[in-house]
Amino acid sequence: MPRRNKEKDDKRALVIGLGRFGGSLARELVNDGWEVMGVDTNARRVQAQSDILTQSVVADTTDDETLRQIGAPDFSRAVVAIGSHLEESILTTSLLVDLGVSHIWAKATSRRHARILHQIGAHHVVLPEHDMGERVAHLVSGRMLDFVEIDEDFALGSTEAPQFIVGHKLGETGLRGKYRITIVSIKRRGGAFTYATAETVPKQGDIVIAAGSIRDVERFASLEK
Ligand code: ADP
Repeated sequence: MPRRNKEKDDKRALVIGLGRFGGSLARELVNDGWEVMGVDTNARRVQAQSDILTQSVVADTTDDETLRQIGAPDFSRAVVAIGSHLEESILTTSLLVDLGVSHIWAKATSRRHARILHQIGAHHVVLPEHDMGERVAHLVSGRMLDFVEIDEDFALGSTEAPQFIVGHKLGETGLRGKYRITIVSIKRRGGAFTYATAETVPKQGDIVIAAGSIRDVERFASLEK
């Protein structure tokens, strides 16, 4: 079997740091049918997760030999969820890179921390506090019901259908030309989300999901309802 497929089929992950972030992430993976080995220096945290995780180990991952002993090189996916311990986070990540783990996600607590993690070879860096802060800001400002930034300048935002598209086929509203956004999904009152087409006619009170640049999605969400 080619290596890529083998990796794709490998539903095992190593999660280092079982704080709030690492703990929730590990539990979610287990719920999703993954085998998860959780590691933390804090025995109490390891104990608290031991019933849920496939394997849980008390260990200090800043030591190369320890990482080998727990079998870190056998994992193709690892998450370094040590946020507030900068030195430990950087050391652990660089050791995993050296051991050849092919997909490493690392949690950063600041942009500088994120830059270092990228530089030493982490494949994916997440900044949960920053990202959630930005997301909630869009919700607090009251124009969007939900907001997800997909890329540096691409987002999805849900909002009540603005007045000027109510009762009109989406294909005839000129939304893409005028507002540079695409409505990808719609939720009827009391219904579930479904995909939107050029023939879809939004009604008053429907919720729509708009895709486009952050600025364009914001502008669309602020239109009169
Ligand atoms: P959160 O904000 O998600 O709760 P923290 O940064 O507070 O995250 O928690 C990180 C976890 O990582 C803690 O449980 C801590 O004990 C663990 N940890 C810190 N250093 C190491 C290390 N060298 N090896 C393994 N686990 C570590």
